[in-house]
Amino acid sequence: MGRRILFLGPPGAGKGTQAARLARALGVPHISTGDMLRQAVSEGTELGKRADAIMKAGDLVPDDLVVAMVQERLGKEDAACGYLLDGFPRNVTQAEALDAATGGTAVEVTILLDVSEDELVARLLSRAGELGRADDNEDTIRTRQRIYREETEPLIGYYPARGVSVIPIDGLGTIEDVFARIVSSLAEEDG
Ligand code: ADP
Repeated sequence: MGRRILFLGPPGAGKGTQAARLARALGVPHISTGDMLRQAVSEGTELGKRADAIMKAGDLVPDDLVVAMVQERLGKEDAACGYLLDGFPRNVTQAEALDAATGGTAVEVTILLDVSEDELVARLLSRAGELGRADDNEDTIRTRQRIYREETEPLIGYYPARGVSVIPIDGLGTIEDVFARIVSSLAEEDG
């Protein structure tokens, strides 16, 4: 099974939940740039101070900051035998930086969680009611969807052009249903 996995999908598709599960199942670290940035914000680090307002608005934190943060994380020992990337790369610039730093070996396979935009907004708004994440309000959610379409979606073409397959997974259904689809698609991919 490919051990350097990238999760792609719009905000609200369930990436974080599925990525955490899959990482546990494979015994690799779940590297979520959203989680890392939220941690930096809560700790009040220099990075956190710069990221806070940007994240609240639903915009992207500058590429150089995020790339440096991820490079440092990938250099840690626990990432030596694989990892699951969630939320990074989020645009072509970040993908190119990652490829340049690793000779194009950073991603072996990509999982694309597919969910319609109406379902996404509904899910994110109900999450806003439950958890109160600072960036879960309707305006910010729309901004995050737009940025996903404009900046992140091009990665769906970027990776196949470099010989890295993108496996689409239907993100509708229970957490268990979706997880089972991911596991069986990865197994098939390994053939
Ligand atoms: P979601 O996928 O639900 O939008 P994330 O937890 O992945 O949530 O990201 C939350 C926010 O963190 C993003 O809206 C953005 O401001 C910031 N962020 C996360 N990853 C990146 C990245 N790779 N590049 C720039 N900003 C990022």
